[in-house]
Amino acid sequence: MSKKLIFSRKSRREKRKKVIITLLISFIGIGAILSVAYFGVKYSKLKGFNLKNLYGNKQEVTLGNKTEENAVIEETKEDKAADKKLPKDVRKSSNTSIEGDKYTYNSSEVQKVNEKVVPTDGKKMVFLTFDDGPSLANTPKVLDILKSNDVKATFFILAKNFNDAPETSTLLKRELEEGHAIGNHGTSHLYEKLYPKNKAELNNIIEDFDNSDKQIKSILGDDFETRVIRFPGGSMSWKNMQPVKDYFKGKGIAYVDWMVDSSDAKHAGRTKAQIISEIKKETEKYEAAKIDKITILMHDAAGKESTVDALPEIIAYFKERGYEFKTLK
Ligand SMILES: [Zn+2]
Repeated sequence: MSKKLIFSRKSRREKRKKVIITLLISFIGIGAILSVAYFGVKYSKLKGFNLKNLYGNKQEVTLGNKTEENAVIEETKEDKAADKKLPKDVRKSSNTSIEGDKYTYNSSEVQKVNEKVVPTDGKKMVFLTFDDGPSLANTPKVLDILKSNDVKATFFILAKNFNDAPETSTLLKRELEEGHAIGNHGTSHLYEKLYPKNKAELNNIIEDFDNSDKQIKSILGDDFETRVIRFPGGSMSWKNMQPVKDYFKGKGIAYVDWMVDSSDAKHAGRTKAQIISEIKKETEKYEAAKIDKITILMHDAAGKESTVDALPEIIAYFKERGYEFKTLK
């Protein structure tokens, strides 16, 4: 064998060796890149889940490379799935959360005070109630104010909002998760349907409330159960309400009106100052008569910005006067 041939064989073997090593390194390299990418996506998903605003708002994420972009897509999908998730900590067969249950008070007792205007046990309690929500415009602000003041309220839900803006269902969950109580305010709020010629139409009212009850349960889950309703316009405003009251009483459902109307729905453009002075004037009138359970009617619907503006001062007023903030069950 010539020296040349041996050399060229040796060189071919060397070359093959080099190719194999290069291939091996490449495989290991690709493997490493793939695992980093895989765990990277997993990690961003986990991180996204923990840090994400619990109420469906997407985090601001700067897109750096393809992997992060995929993670964002995954996260958006997760956000959508979260919207379908039932709220945490529903107290079984109640209208609030496990924590919120500490703040509840019997609705029928409160309604007795509202109707008869009589003093009860001398324990001063205020029930902040918000009708016609949730609204994207004002409910988050109301919830933020309640949270920062560490007080609970009762929300009387109008189910047509979920058809008009499905995102409002997230706010209903937030209300419950933050320990507030949920009442039913019907579906349509259409006076001509519920009370044609000012006279209560039992079947229409039942249908309207049954429908909203189903919608609320579809968002909050079967563990949720509210036995508190508020008739649109209040029970005192319509004729022929007795059969309606009897029907709901037979089902173990209490209706609750109010003691003090904040007047925020009286006409558009009601100012913060008007709302505050109305509440103070009415409350002091009832305090003079030793009334100890004050239910306040307010609204968290769109357009009720003055109510939001007035709320911190309203809360401070009742705190100063020694009231306990309770919710209706
Ligand atoms: Zn209403």
